[in-house]
Amino acid sequence: MSATAIVASKRQLAMVMDLNKCIGCQTCTVACKTQWTNRNGRDYMYWNNVETFPGEGYPKQWQTSGGGFDNEGNLKDGVIPEIETGYGTPWDFNHEDLAKGVEFKSNVAPIWGPNWDEDQGAGNFPSDNYFFYIPRICNHCDNPGCLAACPRDAIFKRGQDGVVLVDQDRCQGYRFCIAGCPYKKIYFNPKISKSEKCIFCFPRIEKGLPTACAQQCVGRIRFVGFLDDEEGQIYKLVKKYKVALPLRPDANTGANVYYVPPVAGPLKFDANGKPIEGSDRVPPEQLEALFGKEVHAAIKTIKDEMENRKATGKSELLDLLIAYKHSDMFRLDAGYYAHHNNSLKPVDHRYDAGKFTSFKAVH
Ligand code: SF4
Ligand code: SF4
Repeated sequence: MSATAIVASKRQLAMVMDLNKCIGCQTCTVACKTQWTNRNGRDYMYWNNVETFPGEGYPKQWQTSGGGFDNEGNLKDGVIPEIETGYGTPWDFNHEDLAKGVEFKSNVAPIWGPNWDEDQGAGNFPSDNYFFYIPRICNHCDNPGCLAACPRDAIFKRGQDGVVLVDQDRCQGYRFCIAGCPYKKIYFNPKISKSEKCIFCFPRIEKGLPTACAQQCVGRIRFVGFLDDEEGQIYKLVKKYKVALPLRPDANTGANVYYVPPVAGPLKFDANGKPIEGSDRVPPEQLEALFGKEVHAAIKTIKDEMENRKATGKSELLDLLIAYKHSDMFRLDAGYYAHHNNSLKPVDHRYDAGKFTSFKAVH
């Protein structure tokens, strides 16, 4: 299938995540799961997950599972991961039997799951080992691979803020969208035979509140706002200082989640346990594979600003990244939505009303 499906939105919501501050606590994952995906066929879905890099990720090996576009704009083939082998069948433990003295065990024998390879990383402790965390949500792309792959035109990008949603009435559960997404951030719900994905918490956003993952983030790594808001943190980090970059830009979908790359870890140690001056624990070529060639300039800018701060005591960039007040990380505008002519109201209303998110089984 071939498609170039650039979809122009009036404004674009975006998120910046500073990987230097993520502690891998998974609070964001739980915030999202309890809000949206702990029921009705969504048990295995993690609209937000936090994976260890290097690692195979979630779903397993998503980075080599195809989708996205080639440089001519053709949609690339992709795979649809199996629940058992790609995501891992959700399991539970026999807690209620423990008082009877029976063996503590799971109800299935899992072979993969979210965080299966958590904190493994690469290298040899203590001389050159390394890892860092990458939280991932749907990127609400400018040119979504999921949308281009859908033969039912069931996926759309909201004109008012660029949030990518699935029209549940149109979706027939063909799953081409999963193959087409290079990030594998759209999931099949076997209970209702529909595809589902991160909705950027739009019912919260429309009330001027940040996404649940950002609101709950313990490390204060997540900024949320509009990309065209020149006074906002998102604009400054992405456009002004260019220190926040999309993940795997070679997927050519125009991702709208941006990452501040990991800047500096401890030096490597030589055979005598002495630090090797000028060494990098995280190989720069791996950062380039994740964030593109711009990653080197982004890291240099941050390091330069750290020196500038030491010399002058001042740095707008570091002040932004430190984010002294959590509320300063979000610039949203309930008034904008209140005055917007929301022609997609029926779809919005279904999420608000909980038709697809209630605890009751969906028929
Ligand atoms: S990240 Fe995947 S699911 Fe989200 S908009 Fe982009 S292509 Fe679609
Ligand atoms: S809550 Fe924040 S710090 Fe914790 S894992 Fe999620 S993104 Fe990282």
